[in-house]
This record gives sequence, structure tokens and C-alpha cells, in this order.
Amino acid sequence: MKIAVIADIHANLEALHAVLGHARAQGITKYVCLGDIVGYNANPHECLEEVRNLDLLGVVMGNHDAVACGRQSLVGFNPYAARAAEWTRSQLSDAEQTWLASLSFKQDIFIDSPITRFTIVHASLNRPEAWEYVFDTHEADVSMQFQWMPLCFIGHTHSPLAFERSLLETVGGVFNTVRFNPDHKYLVNCGSVGQPRDRDPRAAYVTYDLDHATIQLHRVVYDISTAQKKVIAAGLPEYCAIRLGTGR
Ligand code: ZN
Repeated sequence: MKIAVIADIHANLEALHAVLGHARAQGITKYVCLGDIVGYNANPHECLEEVRNLDLLGVVMGNHDAVACGRQSLVGFNPYAARAAEWTRSQLSDAEQTWLASLSFKQDIFIDSPITRFTIVHASLNRPEAWEYVFDTHEADVSMQFQWMPLCFIGHTHSPLAFERSLLETVGGVFNTVRFNPDHKYLVNCGSVGQPRDRDPRAAYVTYDLDHATIQLHRVVYDISTAQKKVIAAGLPEYCAIRLGTGR
């Protein structure tokens, strides 16, 4: 069994469609979503509908989701992110905001084929609601002190990174494939579907092969220029469109 882990879609429907098509072509039918379904780009309503129609094993709230449903304030948002967040909130129906507000900050997932268990959280496990960033082994260590499962998937930084913790040390960095050592713990950031920031503008997501205990990072080409045109046409900040082209 293989599942797809998607994060930080950020209302980019072109990127989401490309990723879902790529996953389906591998026979994937089950998904996990790490939050920030909305914010920054022009199709929050459509992306919410697509995600809610997936066969989801789990989904957690991101900081942009929390603002879009009124569960948190704009504190910590830079001016252009705040403008995009306010626009997003104005687009969503009461029912969509209620659904977003119902999401939890973290979720433990159990699959018994054989027995696989992992945790999902948008930002970090030490303080999920504080939206801290995990970029290096020290920050990964802080989060993993609160990780009871052998594996945790995170998003939020929009940069794919994998960390591995043994009794002696935590190591990690950019990755293509992670093969599990059953005695170690793993913290995996699956990158961003809709707004990559690692200088690669292609959409990112990972697949988790439960039978072979491996995680694979995928990069998917999508129609960036259509997504950019929609951002401009919606009156969203121009920088939201520019950064899609540079992957930053
Ligand atoms: Zn995000």
C-alpha cells in the first residue's frame, strides 16, 4: 500500500491537479494532508473541495487555514500574506470555514496493513499552535522530543527535508528517498504543493510505501503561468504570483 502526503497547497489549483494526477498514475487512492490548503493563491474554494473529496486518512490545520476560518488572528503574518489571508477569508463560505475550524493541530494515524503508525502536524510537535519552523537538526530535535511515533510528517517551511534520529544524534537535510531503520525516528517535511520555496518551482509531495518502509519525494511540473494569471486577476498581491515562478 502506498499513500500520498500533500502539504501547503495554498489555493493553487493547477499545482494540486498536477500532483493528484501524478499520484493517481501510481495507483494511489489514499491521502494525508498537512494543512495550509488555502492562502496566497486564487482558488481556495476549489482546492478545499478537491481535498475534501479525497479519501483522507488524516488532515490537520495550518496557520493560513486557522486565519481563514477565524480561529487565529493575523499576528505573525507579513503585510502581503495578511492581505492574501483577508481575501481568502472573504471567499470562503460559512460551511467551508466551519470545516476548517473543525481541524485539529495534530493527528495520530494508525493503519494495520501491517501495523503502521505515524503523526501529522503542520509546523512542529513541540508547540503545534505556535507555527514554529523546522529547518535544521536542532529544530528537528526539539520537535522530535514530543514525537512518540516512529515517523512524523510536517509542512510549513515549504522546503522538503528529512531528519533521522538515532540514540546518538539527529542528522538530516534534503532528500529524494528515505529508507527506514526500525530503530530510528523520522521527521519528514514533504515540501509544498502550491508554493515551493526551495528554489525549485515544481510542485512537491511525497509518497509513503508502507510495505517497503520507504518515502519518496516527487517534483511535478504544472501550469505556473495560469496560476500566476489567476493571482493577478483576483487582485491578490503581485508577489504571490512572482514567487511561484522562482520557487522562493
Ligand atoms: Zn504554508
